Amino acid sequence: MEECIFCKIVRGEIPSCKVHEDERVFVFEDINPLADGHTLIIPKNHAATIWEITEEDLLAVHSTSKRLAEAMHQALDATDVACVQLNGKGVNQIVPHYHLHLIPRIKGAPEIDLTKWELKPGDMDRIQEIGDKLSAAMKA
Ligand code: AMP
Ligand code: ZN
Repeated sequence: MEECIFCKIVRGEIPSCKVHEDERVFVFEDINPLADGHTLIIPKNHAATIWEITEEDLLAVHSTSKRLAEAMHQALDATDVACVQLNGKGVNQIVPHYHLHLIPRIKGAPEIDLTKWELKPGDMDRIQEIGDKLSAAMKA
């Protein structure tokens, strides 16, 4: 995709703090980090969301996340890591090129706001009804 900012990063047309690349994925630092070490993993092939990415690229991105989390553990002394991935404007995806955020919490660093949501018990009938709909759709 000509105008996609992450495709431009993959092609080296705009600079990035590259961490790693292989034939399928590109890994680089987020320039608006939620915490030290906030890193993005993207497929080299353009795909906007989880609905468009191929299974091979999805696998490559997510298996790279395991290696990156290991590196965060070892190199940054990260005790904990949040993996976050947004699909669509309605959930505030800003860059329409699939990307997985890995946000480490380094020993002694403050809590990451994004990970603190309040637990409020839901309506069990509604929860069951929605679960059944999804279950049926996954069998189809
Ligand atoms: P989102 O689409 O909401 O999951 O987030 C997009 C992320 O991409 C944000 O965290 C941005 O800070 C990050 N971002 C946007 N442009 C760049 C860039 N040129 N280099 C690194 N990170 C970027
Ligand atoms: Zn792209």
